[in-house]
Amino acid sequence: MKRPLKLVEPLGLEVKARPSALLSLFAIWTVLSFLAAKLLKWKPEMAILSGFSASLIHFASEFWHQLGHAQAAEQTGYPMSGMEYRGPIAISQYPDNEGMLSADVHIQRALGGPIFSLLLTIVSGAIALLLRPKGGPALILVLFTFVDNLLVFTVGALLPLGFTDGSTLLHWWGHLQGGKRVAIQQDR
Ligand SMILES: [Zn+2]
Repeated sequence: MKRPLKLVEPLGLEVKARPSALLSLFAIWTVLSFLAAKLLKWKPEMAILSGFSASLIHFASEFWHQLGHAQAAEQTGYPMSGMEYRGPIAISQYPDNEGMLSADVHIQRALGGPIFSLLLTIVSGAIALLLRPKGGPALILVLFTFVDNLLVFTVGALLPLGFTDGSTLLHWWGHLQGGKRVAIQQDR
């Protein structure tokens, strides 16, 4: 597997990307441009430009979702170190030396992303309602933001698919319910 490329470090978070992220960007761009041309009957240049904008919106929405995890992690006292884009999604990254953490720390950090995405879902939904009378590409892009944040970053993230926040929540929720709370150790 190729090493991820370090891109930038905004807000003290290291943002990395694997080549598969760039491939996904092109794939999403292609599919959405095709859909815009076929379903919405937009001219090719308009479809390509809107498809590109929508794929950037998807990656920005993932960044926003990760900011939610980062904010929650900051509050627990066990901050995130960064994020790594892989394929169409990104994975939160934490320092290797943070040791064993209690179940509620893991749960709080996992909830942060879907909560931020739900906020963006509500805001974009409200903007879509305001733009509805005007219609046009702006409305379609805002609707895309709404649907993407709702289905992928809020509901999708909460489904226990093995690599999602939902899986993390289910795993650590079991520890809370069973009373098997793992003590915080400061392993160095
Ligand atoms: Zn997440």
